Amino acid sequence: MSEQVVIAIDIGTTSTKILAYDKAGNTWAEEEQEYPLYTPHPGWKEQDPEEIFQALKAALRPVLKAVDEKGGIPGGVGFSAAMHSLIAMDESGNPLTGSLTWADQRSVEETEELKNGEGHEIYLRTGTPIHPMSPLTKLLWFRKHDQDTFERASKWISIKEYVFYRLFDRYIVDYSIASATGLFNLEQLDWDEKALELTGVSKEQLSDPVPTTHLVSGLNAENAKELGLPADIPFVIGASDGVLANLGVGAIDPGSVACSIGTSGAIRTVVSKPSVDPKGRIFCYALTEDQWVIGGPINNGGITFRWARDNLFPDIKQQAKQAGRDPYDDLAAIASKVKPGSDGLLFFPYLTGERAPYWNADTKGVFFGLTLDHSRDQMIRSVLEGVMFQMYTVVIALIEAGVEPVEFRANGGFARSELWRQIMADIFETEIMVPESHQSSCMGAAWLTMYKLGMVERLSGIKELVKTKVKHEPVKANSDAYNKLKPLFIRLARDLQSDFEVMADIQRQYAEEQA
Ligand code: ADP
Repeated sequence: MSEQVVIAIDIGTTSTKILAYDKAGNTWAEEEQEYPLYTPHPGWKEQDPEEIFQALKAALRPVLKAVDEKGGIPGGVGFSAAMHSLIAMDESGNPLTGSLTWADQRSVEETEELKNGEGHEIYLRTGTPIHPMSPLTKLLWFRKHDQDTFERASKWISIKEYVFYRLFDRYIVDYSIASATGLFNLEQLDWDEKALELTGVSKEQLSDPVPTTHLVSGLNAENAKELGLPADIPFVIGASDGVLANLGVGAIDPGSVACSIGTSGAIRTVVSKPSVDPKGRIFCYALTEDQWVIGGPINNGGITFRWARDNLFPDIKQQAKQAGRDPYDDLAAIASKVKPGSDGLLFFPYLTGERAPYWNADTKGVFFGLTLDHSRDQMIRSVLEGVMFQMYTVVIALIEAGVEPVEFRANGGFARSELWRQIMADIFETEIMVPESHQSSCMGAAWLTMYKLGMVERLSGIKELVKTKVKHEPVKANSDAYNKLKPLFIRLARDLQSDFEVMADIQRQYAEEQA
């Protein structure tokens, strides 16, 4: 008998991934299509919305073919997408701009002005930290610097809205993507009047907000044919990639904390009502109407390990590659010979500015405590430790926001390293569970879709599906060593913030001289 599968589509910043799952969580097919990220000016990070839509279609065909060959029947389609993108559309439904991604930095000045003004008030109502990533600050930039586009824009939408518009000719946005715009009132589940007033954009210029389980069907004949899907197949709009990743690793119950470190990193947990932080450190985004994900992203996760590999150990990288080994494994072996605490060396991993908990784009990397006795061996270990100290400062912010952690589920590229996972357990002083996860945002989107379609009974049922790959217990002697350094890390990180800004100005002058 043929089995029903759900097609999950994750529209990311570097690629769109499409996976097909059955309700036991088995993957039936998988495809990925990459697309470019454009930098037309320094600090701008845009994509072409139409390139993304075409990539989606190209990735869908082989997935449907594989499902068909294995005897599966697509029963529904669900979506995940990157947060914070912004596209201006004209009256005829053509994009006037690229899709500005979360990484776009053009609104740095507007962000600073807003932080010094009513930014915090807006954050408390919208749950989106005041940062150049947010569509709110991007709109302020357009209003000030690109009057022409600002006046011609009939709609301001995200990349997921663009895809839905192309498929169904309707402008709708799920509560999750909307809650990451900085324009959406968490309590009212509607656009925030004061935020709109500030940007000069009207409600009519934004899409209609709908729940993340909102179902749409009725593809027009042309789209149905091109996609290779039946016209009446149900599409569930879904949520953002971050909140769906929590669902995808089974971190869905109160106190279950997802810790993810890939290129960047994040700590997230699900709460039952919107929650914000008087100190503005954490975000709050919707998963469903009664499940919200609070947490904090860090910019500098695995990217710092990559930097250290390339800049401190080019020789080891070369040797490992020639021998067919992963250079990261060789570096972890070197780091494992150094004692916890790196013989009194601390690394502040802010190589690309930092988001949570300080939300300061000007933060810089620091090695603190260097002596003649230290070599690059201690430096590499302190890089791994510094990322984890930084993750821990976000855990502290969550605890201060009222979260009582009961379990930590870790995933992302970092989890390939046994040493790095142990450092997490030792610094967090708790057991760390690493789930068997693969494309967790897609899995979350698929599960939400199955839940909506009645294929599975409970959203939290996903926990039973996600198996444990490995667990780590904290080692007391290691935690004791880290506890000596923790207060110093936290205090220095806080105290250095204004000096980072002075250094950022100096670095900008160097950059201008070189230009
Ligand atoms: P992305 O976030 O871009 O999807 P990944 O989740 O694959 O990427 O994470 C990439 C990061 O994972 C790398 O920058 C590196 O720091 C880390 N990483 C990859 N392989 C290993 C490994 N074997 N040991 C430790 N860290 C690793």
